[in-house]
Amino acid sequence: MQFRKYSGGKMYWRSLVGFWVLSWFLCLPAWGQKQLARFEYSQRHMGTLFRVVLYAPDSSRAGQAARAAFKRVADLNHILSDYEKDSELNQLCRMAGTGQWVPGSKDLWYVLKKSVAASERTKGAFDITVGPYVQLWRRARRQGTLPTPEALAQASQAVGYQHLKLNKKGKTVQLAVPYMQLDMGAIGKGYAVDEALKILKKYGIKAALVDGGGNIVVNRPPPGTKGWEINLGISSPTDTTRQLQLLLKHQAVATSGDLYQYLDLNGVRYSHILNPYTGLGLTDQSRVTIIARNGLTADWLSTAVSVLGPQQGLTLADKTPGAAVSFIRQQNHQTQQWLSRRFKKLTSGILKSEKTK
Ligand code: ADP
Ligand code: MG
Repeated sequence: MQFRKYSGGKMYWRSLVGFWVLSWFLCLPAWGQKQLARFEYSQRHMGTLFRVVLYAPDSSRAGQAARAAFKRVADLNHILSDYEKDSELNQLCRMAGTGQWVPGSKDLWYVLKKSVAASERTKGAFDITVGPYVQLWRRARRQGTLPTPEALAQASQAVGYQHLKLNKKGKTVQLAVPYMQLDMGAIGKGYAVDEALKILKKYGIKAALVDGGGNIVVNRPPPGTKGWEINLGISSPTDTTRQLQLLLKHQAVATSGDLYQYLDLNGVRYSHILNPYTGLGLTDQSRVTIIARNGLTADWLSTAVSVLGPQQGLTLADKTPGAAVSFIRQQNHQTQQWLSRRFKKLTSGILKSEKTK
C-alpha cells in the first residue's frame, strides 16, 4: 500500500511536471508572438525612399533581414534602372536596332514578360518603350517648354511595344528598331517591393510591410491585429489631407498621379504619366489607387488605369483577379470619384474610418 501510495505520489509529480512542460510548449507559439517587436528601417533606392516595417524577435534578426531586403532592391536597380548607365536594361537598349537577340537575366526577363503582357492587355496604354518620350518630358520639365511636334514625331519611331520582342525558348530579347529606350518607372518599384518581401520571408519574417515610394506590399498582419493600417489620401488628386484607412493583408496598394511630378505650362498641368499615343503627359489631373494581389500588378495597373481613364480603367481592374481601383479626377474645380466593384466591396469590409489628417 505504502509502495503504491509512494508510487502514486511519484506519478503525480511526474504528471504535474509533464503537464507543466507540455503546457509550456503549448503556450510557446502565443508566447513567441507576444515577444515579436516592431522594427522600421528606411533607405533610398530607385530614386525614392524604401521603407521596411517588420515584426521580429530581436533587433539583430530584424536588422539582418532588412539589410538583405534592401540589398535585393539595390541589386534590382542595377538591372532595371534607366538612370544607371551600365544597368542590364541600358546595356540591352544599346543593342536596339542591331537585330541581335540578347539573353536576359531571370529578373529582367520576368519584368519584360509582365510588361509586354500588360501592354497587350491595355493595347499600349501601358508601354515600357515610352523611354524616348520620357526623355523629351524630362527635358521639357528642365527647360519649361513642350517638345516640338518634330521631336515627338522622331521619338515616336522608337516607341511601341510591338518592337520589343521576347523569345521564350532562350529567354532572349530583341529591340527591333534603333534608339529604343525602355523605362521601368511604372513597374520596377512594384516588382522590387514584392522581391524585398520575399527576402524578409526567407529570413523568417512573416509579418512585414515594404513601401517603395508609395508602392506598398504587406503580408501577414502585425501580431494581434486584423491587418496593416494603410492611410490613403483619397479625396482629391491634389489634396491628401482627407484620408481613408485601409486594413490590408497579403495585398499590395499603389497610387499614381501628378501630385509631385508634373510640368505646369500656360495653365495646363502635364503629368509624368504619358499617353503613349501622343507622347505627352496626361492633363486630366487624376489620382488612381489600386489594390492588388502583388506590388508589380498594383504598380503597372495604377499607371495603365490613369492613361485609360475611369470607364476602361475600371473594367480592366475588374478583370484582374483581386484588383480594385479608386479613380479620382479633378476637372473645373470639381472632384469626381469612381470606385470599382471590388474596391467598394473591399472597403466596405475593411474601411475603418474616413478622417481628416
Ligand atoms: P510613380 O513613379 O510616381 O510611382 P508611376 O508608377 O505611374 O508613378 O510611373 C510613372 C513613370 O512610368 C514615369 O515617370 C515614366 O518613367 C513611366 N511611364 C510614364 N508613362 C508611362 C506609360 N504610359 N506606360 C509605362 N510607363 C510609363
Ligand atoms: Mg505605378
